[in-house]
Amino acid sequence: MDLSLLWIIPALHLFAATSPAVWLSACPAVNRSAIPAVRPSASPAVRPSDTAHVVIVATTDLHGHATDWDYVANQPSPGGLTRVATIVDSLRARYPGQVVLVDAGDLIQGNPFATYYARVAPRDPNPVIEAMSLTGYDVATPGNHEFDWGLGVMRQAVAGAAFPYVSGNIHTLPGDTLLFQPYVVLNRQGVRIGVTGFTTPGAAVWNRDQLQGRLRLDRISVAAARVLRPLRRESDLVVALVHSGLAGPASYDTAGVGGENEAASLADLPFRPDLVVVGHSHREMRDSVLGEVHFVQPRPYGGSVSITHVDLVREDARWRPVRIRGELVSTARTIPSARLAQRLGPAHEAVLQWGDLVLGKAVVSPDPKPKSNMSEAGSRLAASLNAEAGAGR
Ligand SMILES: [Zn+2]
Repeated sequence: MDLSLLWIIPALHLFAATSPAVWLSACPAVNRSAIPAVRPSASPAVRPSDTAHVVIVATTDLHGHATDWDYVANQPSPGGLTRVATIVDSLRARYPGQVVLVDAGDLIQGNPFATYYARVAPRDPNPVIEAMSLTGYDVATPGNHEFDWGLGVMRQAVAGAAFPYVSGNIHTLPGDTLLFQPYVVLNRQGVRIGVTGFTTPGAAVWNRDQLQGRLRLDRISVAAARVLRPLRRESDLVVALVHSGLAGPASYDTAGVGGENEAASLADLPFRPDLVVVGHSHREMRDSVLGEVHFVQPRPYGGSVSITHVDLVREDARWRPVRIRGELVSTARTIPSARLAQRLGPAHEAVLQWGDLVLGKAVVSPDPKPKSNMSEAGSRLAASLNAEAGAGR
């Protein structure tokens, strides 16, 4: 088989027709010497109908960053779903019917926007979830912080999503049945894309009060071994959303619980995924390969988007991935989606007003010479919100 075409195609995907200006502005610096030269192919052995290309787009650890606003500093922030949406829209225009958009968890906690709609003024749907639905997510898995507000808030938030949640290792008690379906199989151009998810069992430690007697989390490697076997059989391409760091020590006693950071263990299983979206550890990873499994991790808060291009060839009744290549695109200079910003406008304004209400205490500060523009009360609030935003992972 002449694979020269397959070698050339991925380079063209990124650089040949990136017409929207926003997409270009979103692209990181490119090492053009890394782009393979276009070589003429005298006799392409692979007919067009025998090849397919799908694009897996991923975020993780958004922590309430639906808008591109920092509610503590009261200024624009570099991430947010409104910026992610611009990149997703651009990719969907470039690759119609070929994009799958996924998230690896920690969504409804972590900034004042999330706090407001979980605790102060709950809405249905939760505006963070609404922003995800408007961005067009296809599937997501929960992070440990989804449970911070209690099971009721989490269930209600998920019920308002226009996309399914998957999880292979979270069980409800006492029945011990899976909280969500273990996986979905999506179809893009005839390619069956199986997506499953797993959450760090540390959730049971950090949220013991909310979860004890109600939920049980399996060790990730144990649950993955169970789920990946049927998923591999039903899918041409297998994607695992793993809200757990790649590897490393846990921040708790793992006896009887399971490791905190175990995403890499999926590479050792007899039925391995093709792609793992890593979350939880707030790191960034373009495309690391362990045992033929590709691991990617976008930056938290929508600071970057992971884009994985997958080329497949048809073999009998199945599609086989022949090339997988992950990229990271920073959202720092991406123009926020006007469509999403407009839809989230009232929700954004309400949080701003809530912030003004509380920070109004600064006006009556008895200190005649405040050291900063913010009063002590305002500073304390900002510090607590900052601490909350950075709390845990
Ligand atoms: Zn986490």
